[in-house]
Amino acid sequence: MAWRCTGNTSAELIANLAKHGIIKSEVVTNAMAKVDRAHYVLDKANAYEDSPQYIGYDATISAPHMHAHALQYLLPYIKPGSRVLDVGSGSGYLVAVLYHLVSSSSGTSGKVVGIEHIPELVKFSVDNLKKDGLGGALDDGRVEIVEGDGRKGYAPAALYDVIHVGAAAPVLPDALVNQLASPGRMFIPVGTGSQAIWQVDKDENGDVTKTPLFDVMYVPLTDRKPKPIF
Ligand code: SAH
Repeated sequence: MAWRCTGNTSAELIANLAKHGIIKSEVVTNAMAKVDRAHYVLDKANAYEDSPQYIGYDATISAPHMHAHALQYLLPYIKPGSRVLDVGSGSGYLVAVLYHLVSSSSGTSGKVVGIEHIPELVKFSVDNLKKDGLGGALDDGRVEIVEGDGRKGYAPAALYDVIHVGAAAPVLPDALVNQLASPGRMFIPVGTGSQAIWQVDKDENGDVTKTPLFDVMYVPLTDRKPKPIF
């Protein structure tokens, strides 16, 4: 599935994702069309390839089809004004697409928080978001990139209508479930040996339902490596 969607331009990549049924909604098409992946990768020559790419520090920007899948599953819970948390925000690409989904042309605006534990990637993503035109949203807090351990979520901006997790957790972190609004939806890879995406839904009464969706291979959510002494 992955490589079939590769394009020569951003528009071609997005059209291919739609043609192959990965993007299913015009809302996702329009939001992804506002974000140029070339701003979020190291090797711009491969920006529109439908594959993950190394961004340094053991991290990759996910493949466009994985971003699209995640957005489609989360979409029923995202509207202009929604609050979203992206755990392991890496390049900042998904934060940008989510920002466009929670903002409307009439001025309604939600909030997107990305949490990332590698300080160099926090800086990389902030620079990328600025290059992509989101400097104003960063300045006024509609977009925030926080350095921290995403397994604990980010309580100061909770509750979140939607939580996306971009690295695998061995078990579902309670803190993230607690920071999900009622109703709210989380998309999270869970597992160690084999991993699956779980869709975690919290209903109006606070009852939680966990639905395994499909098998995946993500890098794990980890502790930060200690800095070398020498
Ligand atoms: N979705 C992002 C990055 C995915 S790679 C993108 O597409 O660009 C997973 C990211 O999770 C990496 O950037 C890694 O540094 C980060 N990560 C791993 N463990 C983490 C933790 N405990 N807290 C916060 N971020 C973490």
